[in-house]
Amino acid sequence: MINPWSSGQVPDYDRLREDFGIGDVPKGIFDSSLFRRGIIFGQRGLEYIEYCMKNEIQFNAMTGLMPSGEMHLGNKSVMDQILFYQSLGAKITIAVADLESYGTRNLSLEKARDIAINKYLVNYIAMGLKPCRFYFQSDSARVQRLALILSNEVNFSEMKAIYGFENSSPMLHINSPLVQVADILHVQSPEMGGPSPTIVPVGADQDPHLRLTRDIANRHRVFNISWERETVKISVSGKYDSRKMLDIANEKLLELNFKIVSRNDNYRLISAMGDIDNNVRLDLELALIESKYNEHAFIAPSATYQKLLTGLKGGKMSSSKPESLISLNDKPEEAVKKIKSATTGGRATVEEQRIKGGEPDKCPVFELYSFHLSPDDKDLNEIHETCKAGTLLCGPCKSEAAERMRKFLADLSEKRNEAMEKISLYVGDE
Ligand code: SF4
Repeated sequence: MINPWSSGQVPDYDRLREDFGIGDVPKGIFDSSLFRRGIIFGQRGLEYIEYCMKNEIQFNAMTGLMPSGEMHLGNKSVMDQILFYQSLGAKITIAVADLESYGTRNLSLEKARDIAINKYLVNYIAMGLKPCRFYFQSDSARVQRLALILSNEVNFSEMKAIYGFENSSPMLHINSPLVQVADILHVQSPEMGGPSPTIVPVGADQDPHLRLTRDIANRHRVFNISWERETVKISVSGKYDSRKMLDIANEKLLELNFKIVSRNDNYRLISAMGDIDNNVRLDLELALIESKYNEHAFIAPSATYQKLLTGLKGGKMSSSKPESLISLNDKPEEAVKKIKSATTGGRATVEEQRIKGGEPDKCPVFELYSFHLSPDDKDLNEIHETCKAGTLLCGPCKSEAAERMRKFLADLSEKRNEAMEKISLYVGDE
C-alpha cells in the first residue's frame, strides 16, 4: 500500500513502476545527478517537458509543501529538482497546503503560515530559489473555486478507493486531495497563461495524487485523445457542439499531416493515422484551441518520481520519526551526532567488513552521500567501490559524511539570515 501517510520504505522500485504503470526515465534527458543516479526512478508524461525543451517553450514546475514540522533532507530533493527546473527557465509555483494541515494535522492557519515561511521558504531561498509564485491554499480563491469545479469530475467511491476514506472521514480531509488537484492544475488557468505542460516532482508515495490529477485533467477536456500505435482517436465530450469541435479536430489533424480514417458525428469521434511523435504537439495545439471554448483545457501534468530517502534508523525519513531525520534547521552538531549513530550497511565486525566489504546499496549513510553530500560522480563511485572492497570502514565513512553535513548546514544557516530579508519578494497578496 503506497500512500503519503505511511511511514514505510518502498522495497522494490521496479515492481512499483510496473504495478502502477509508471514510465522509465529516458537516459540523457536531463543533466542532473538526480537523474543520472536513478534517484528519480520513474515518470509520467515527461515527453511533454522534453518537447518544451526542444522547442524552447516555457513550462511550469509545481510543488507543494505541507507546513507541519521540519523541512528535512527527505523533502530537500524535491526542492533540488525545482531549482534545477528553474535553472532551465521553468515558471515555478509553490503551494502551501495550509488547508490540508488545518484538516489533517490540527494546525491553525496562522501557525501553518509561520512554519511555511520560517522553516521552509527561508530554506528554499537559502538553497538558491529565485523569486517565484508562492501562495497559501487558504488565500487563493482561484484554487478553491477550481477545486469545487473539478470535484464534479470524481465521486466518493473513487476517492475511497484511492485514499481509503471512510464514511466517517471529515469533509475537509476528503476535499484535501481535490484542493491539491486544483493547486497543480490552476497554473494552467486562463489568468495564469492557459494550457501549458507542467512538471510535478514527487516522492514515490505521492502517485495516487498524481494519477487522480491527470485523470481529472483529462476528464475535463473537450477533446479526449487516445493512441493505438499509429492510430489516434479523438472523441468530443458531451457538453460541447460535437460537429463544430470535430471540424476543428479534423482541420488540425490535416494540418499535422494525419490521414483521416473515419469520422462519426453520432459517436462524436474521429480517427486518423499519423506520426506518433506528433502526439505532444497535437495535444498542445488542440488544448490551445479548446481553451477558447473550455475555460479549463488542461494538459495532464507530467510527474517525476523520486526514491524516498531512508531515515538514519531505517524506514522512510519522515517528520513523524524525528530521531531518524536531519532537519535543515538542525544545528550542525546535532546532525553530526545523528549521522554518527546512524544504521549502516556495514558488517558485524571490522574484520568481517575487511573481508566481505560493506553493503553501500543498503546503507542510509551512503544514501546521504548519493542524494546530498557527494555532488561529484567520481567521488560517489569511489565511496561505493571502496566500501564494497572493504577498504573503507563505517567509522571514517560516517565521520566524513558528518563533516560534509556540518559544513552544508553551517553554510545554509548563514544563507538563511540573508534569505529572511528577501521573503517579501515571494509572499504577497493572492
Ligand atoms: S563504509 Fe560507509 S557506505 Fe559503506 S556501509 Fe559503512 S557507512 Fe555505509
